[in-house]
Amino acid sequence: MLRFIRLPISKISPYDVIIIGAGINGCCSAYTLAQAGLNVALIDQDGIASGGSGAAGAFISPKISKAGELKEIMGEAHAEALEFYTTHFPQFTLTKPLLHIANSPQESEKLDHFKRETSLHHSVIDDELYTLLTPEASEDSYIYFSEGAVVDAQGVCNAMAEGIDFYPLKVEKLIHNDDIWQVGDLHTRHLILAIGAYPKLLPIDYVGLRGIWGHRIDIETSTHIPCILHHHVSISPITQEGIVAIGATHDVHYSPFSGEVYDVEQGREILLDKASKTLKLNNINILKDYTGLRSGSNDYLPMLGSLVNAEETLKKYPHIRHGEKIDPSEYIYYPNVTMINGSGGYGFVLAPYLAKQLNEFIIKGKPIAPILSPSRFFPRWAKRK
Ligand SMILES: Cc1cc2nc3c(=O)[nH]c(=O)nc-3n(C[C@H](O)[C@H](O)[C@H](O)COP(=O)(O)OP(=O)(O)OC[C@H]3O[C@@H](n4cnc5c(N)ncnc54)[C@H](O)[C@@H]3O)c2cc1C
Repeated sequence: MLRFIRLPISKISPYDVIIIGAGINGCCSAYTLAQAGLNVALIDQDGIASGGSGAAGAFISPKISKAGELKEIMGEAHAEALEFYTTHFPQFTLTKPLLHIANSPQESEKLDHFKRETSLHHSVIDDELYTLLTPEASEDSYIYFSEGAVVDAQGVCNAMAEGIDFYPLKVEKLIHNDDIWQVGDLHTRHLILAIGAYPKLLPIDYVGLRGIWGHRIDIETSTHIPCILHHHVSISPITQEGIVAIGATHDVHYSPFSGEVYDVEQGREILLDKASKTLKLNNINILKDYTGLRSGSNDYLPMLGSLVNAEETLKKYPHIRHGEKIDPSEYIYYPNVTMINGSGGYGFVLAPYLAKQLNEFIIKGKPIAPILSPSRFFPRWAKRK
């Protein structure tokens, strides 16, 4: 049972941690920290999984990328996520083989490289699956993993938040006094910002994030889909028997904050057109639309770490503006604030990996890998100012 709490009028005891944002990052962090024994409060303006997370297809799929730091992180996160969801939330996790088909010559090149390097088990597709594909899809390069997974995004977020104090509250202002953060009437030493692609709450313009709008649909179809398919869009059975998910679009131009109305019909058409390039879906009945913003970082790496107080740091080291190199440990940070964000289209894959590192940082003081730090964007931003 979720513990919905009305804001108390009188003073309440402080929490060990307050998390703002109840998407997959906020919920998974809350779950992990509460499991470790911390007293956690979770806040969201619109409820659990109401942002990008509620819209997600929530595939736990490997990222097809070439060698490098991103590949290392995504590989580790993917293994961690498969283990995490199947162990702790099996009722919200469907495992199926996963067929990833390249959708462009560039992807085909990446995929061939990935296939040569990966230690994940994969094989050739059988005749039944082959005959299901369109001629275009059956000619493209592919990798067929024996293990893929898809989670019920809203179900798993709600299950993670169970037993945690939840406050339905839009946070407008953060106040820091005597080493304590005040959020509405709540108090804590340690604040976690897991607010996705929403306005940032602190003056941290250097944090390189952009919102990428996505639309996916749940459908009924008489076509049997035997596995998870990723091609121009994903087509997959989900945890609910008889329902197939199709998604999602990637629209970098539309923003729900612009006031413009999103064209749902057009989004559906795009999805069905893309799906038809992979296979023929018969007797389609659209059941539900899901839309939301992914929050992607400018360098595609996720973000986990402390936030630089830009104004104070530039006051102390004004020559950063002219390119002076200062060790990030010398920057001035907002005390005890950690941001978790920038997961792009892989929030469900990355969340258990990021929450584990957050837990070790808060409980054991283990430093977070600098490559994940949101402060990595600060020097370049300061120079441009
Ligand atoms: C259509 C679509 C399909 C996707 N498919 C996949 C997929 O297959 N696999 C995968 O791994 N990932 C997928 N993703 C990406 C994944 O959903 C995101 O990476 C993930 O949702 C990011 O989670 P988050 O918790 O950081 O942000 P969000 O889920 O956006 O959560 C942020 C929350 O913060 C709250 N908030 C913000 N500001 C305030 C405030 N001031 N006060 C109170 N509350 C506030 C918001 O209400 C929101 O609920 C998909 C995303 C979309 C949109």
